[in-house]
Amino acid sequence: MRGTVMYAAGDVRIENVPDPTIQEPTDAVIRVTRACICGSDLWPYKTLQPDDGARVMGHEAIGVVEEIGADVRTLKIGDVVVMPFAFSDGTCIFCDEGLQTECVHGGFFGNPEVPGAQSEAVRIPQADGTLYVLPVGEDDALMPSLLTLSDVMGTGHHAAVVAKVGPGKSVAVVGDGAVGLCGVIAAKRLGAVQIIIMGRHQDRITLAREFGATDVVSERGPEAVERVKELTDGYGVDAVLECVGLDQSMETAIEVARPGGAVGRVGVPQDELMPGAQPSFFKNITIGGGPAPVRAYIDELLPDVLEGRIEPGRVFDRTVDLDSVPDGYRAMNDRESIKVLVRP
Ligand SMILES: [Zn+2]
Repeated sequence: MRGTVMYAAGDVRIENVPDPTIQEPTDAVIRVTRACICGSDLWPYKTLQPDDGARVMGHEAIGVVEEIGADVRTLKIGDVVVMPFAFSDGTCIFCDEGLQTECVHGGFFGNPEVPGAQSEAVRIPQADGTLYVLPVGEDDALMPSLLTLSDVMGTGHHAAVVAKVGPGKSVAVVGDGAVGLCGVIAAKRLGAVQIIIMGRHQDRITLAREFGATDVVSERGPEAVERVKELTDGYGVDAVLECVGLDQSMETAIEVARPGGAVGRVGVPQDELMPGAQPSFFKNITIGGGPAPVRAYIDELLPDVLEGRIEPGRVFDRTVDLDSVPDGYRAMNDRESIKVLVRP
């Protein structure tokens, strides 16, 4: 089959790769009907070294079950399923707690060990725990929004949950990528009354406003912090969704939080150390977050997608076939596109 192989920074190729097969009795194989390129795919696109190992990319997909292993119980051939970016057994202590991204038998798609989903098909480890059967046909009009349940919508929601967003709260969203935009949807959905999007790309800000952002702060650094304080009686916001992962964005997140506020981090940190230890300590700020257990959130978010109350699929502003995936990476990296949908 054909798949998207990344060899090094900037080197993405569509090639013949081995067909996925059932390797464990708990595996399934799905034919990929929709996949996409993630903002987090842009980190290796910028930095991957040839020695790091080539990988079949992609950790977000919807597909149709083609094969199941002997121990798979909850899936059947032909099911339309969403694949969360992490696989999980659905039975361990952490899965029971709704934290499937810490599953003791879990892992992530799209690395040298586990091939990813920007391809014609993909092997799903721990298929019963991982895949979520959708009550729609494979070409349903809601596919773009359903696809966001594999990562960005669940991740934005996780940031909001960790940041304790609730009715009446004020929220700042740091980052105007697809996750930040879904964070706006999540904050509004959870009842926030003030949602400040911190970003500077006009197309993204327009979408953020349509999703429910009440204010826009396009400055950076100290000016951005000043602007947020002006908008919040001088104190800062109750909740901050950190959707970037750079030191500067984390510093900004801590600075715009009001004393006693909370920061939900879902941007993958690009440094080992976390900045802002002293300011966050002296402001009594709660900091949490990590890889979102999107598998757990599908139950809660799916009805809102099916009934049209949220439309996170609007973050996709370009659709490509497999041959055009390398150009999709380039377009997202050049900020020409917010998020690219792939139809293999
Ligand atoms: Zn588990």
